[in-house]
Amino acid sequence: MTTAKRLGLTTIALVLMGASAAYYATTMAMKGHGVLSSSLNYLVLALIAALTILMLLVFWRSMHRAMAEVSRQIGDMARTGEVGMVMVRGNNELNEVTVPLNKLLTNTQEELDTLRSEKRELQIQSRIASAEKHHTEAIIFSISDAVIVTNRFDELVLANEAAEELLGFKLNTSLRKNIDRIFSDGSLVRLIRETRNHSRSSRRKIVEHSIDKNGDSKTFTVTLSCVTASNDEVSGVVAVLHDITREKEIARTKTDFVSNVSHELKTPLASIKAYIEMLIDGEAEDEQTKRDFYEIISGETDRLHRLIENILNISRIESGVVKVVREPVSLTSVVKRVLNVAAPQAKLKDLELEERLAPVFYQVEADQDMIYQAAMNLVSNAIKYTPNGGKIIVEVSVDEKRGVAVCSVADSGAGIPEADLPHIFEKFYRVNANKKLAKGTGLGLTLVKHIVESVHNGELSVTSEEGQGSTFSFELPVLS
Ligand code: ADP
Repeated sequence: MTTAKRLGLTTIALVLMGASAAYYATTMAMKGHGVLSSSLNYLVLALIAALTILMLLVFWRSMHRAMAEVSRQIGDMARTGEVGMVMVRGNNELNEVTVPLNKLLTNTQEELDTLRSEKRELQIQSRIASAEKHHTEAIIFSISDAVIVTNRFDELVLANEAAEELLGFKLNTSLRKNIDRIFSDGSLVRLIRETRNHSRSSRRKIVEHSIDKNGDSKTFTVTLSCVTASNDEVSGVVAVLHDITREKEIARTKTDFVSNVSHELKTPLASIKAYIEMLIDGEAEDEQTKRDFYEIISGETDRLHRLIENILNISRIESGVVKVVREPVSLTSVVKRVLNVAAPQAKLKDLELEERLAPVFYQVEADQDMIYQAAMNLVSNAIKYTPNGGKIIVEVSVDEKRGVAVCSVADSGAGIPEADLPHIFEKFYRVNANKKLAKGTGLGLTLVKHIVESVHNGELSVTSEEGQGSTFSFELPVLS
């Protein structure tokens, strides 16, 4: 219904109401003079009233429909989230409501658009941040050093597996917890705190730190760096723990090696120098004394030569530059040569040297000279550390089932105390209890172990009982 129609209807309704009021007044006056009957009056009045009510009803219905249309459009906007204009066709009475409402809706729409574009921007930034976070985590997780990241409240925000393993915690249950509740290592916690507190003086520092793990003390370099936010404020600390235990050990071994070598070289040199000086000073009066001096000098020179040879061989094998000539070798033949050379020394000490050698035709693939050197070192040691009158059994056997040739040297000598056994293959290690029995450098067994295990992939073993004797044996695969 158009506004004109509605206005027309309203006017007619008002005219009818006025006419009925005038009619009522006139009929009342005429009735007073007996011109009109009262029943006709009432009929006319009822008609006018009915007409008025009908027109008001039509008006009310039209308004109701317009309101329903407005409500539907607002409902649609609420449901779809799409804000538009409220349009009511031909109902200007509602303009008072719809015009400010549409203004409000236009403003809301603009604000919505701004919010939506800001939301999109934030979503993009959040995706970039999350991708960067994953990237950083992947880098940190791939590092073999232990990495810990804390925030400005000293809470754990990130750590890798190496850190979990080293410091004994689980990242998922420790996140956002204060580090003093996670790490039992108080000095590490202090280091992280100090770095954050004194960030002004230095943003990065490296300290050496020891951690006890399963009874083992390990040494680490801890690199502590401050993480700064865009406003240059410290937002946390990154601690990287690098295990330097092995490096320190190597450095110590090198230093020990150099000082041991120097010491071992000095001893025979000092002795050679002393005897030469005595000869120069004419202190050897007779020929026999002179010969004794020459023999001592010659013996010490041999010792020096052996020492240097051993050092060179060990370092060649360790650095992998040794030239190995592998060929089919009869272990029995090699050991026989060793025994021929060693027999006179054994005789000097009145030692019984028993041979139990497998047939010559069993062969191993080996470097003859090296295997000779290994067997010779074992037999010489047996002679050196067995008191006069003792017994040495040298055996070469073949275990066909296992496909190995075994060379063993058993003596009835001094034996090796249990506490020393794990160390006798270390460079320069000498058993204190046996030092007085013979001179030595502590390099012979190191070389045997290198020759058997590193060069020939064989196995060297020892059993010993203090005061009863020792058995050293090595085995190599036989050629089939
Ligand atoms: P060294 O030059 O001192 O003999 P080795 O490396 O050959 O050096 O041996 C290391 C130590 O092991 C020796 O100092 C010695 O105390 C002990 N040892 C080696 N072989 C025997 C053995 N057959 N009986 C007793 N002790 C031995």
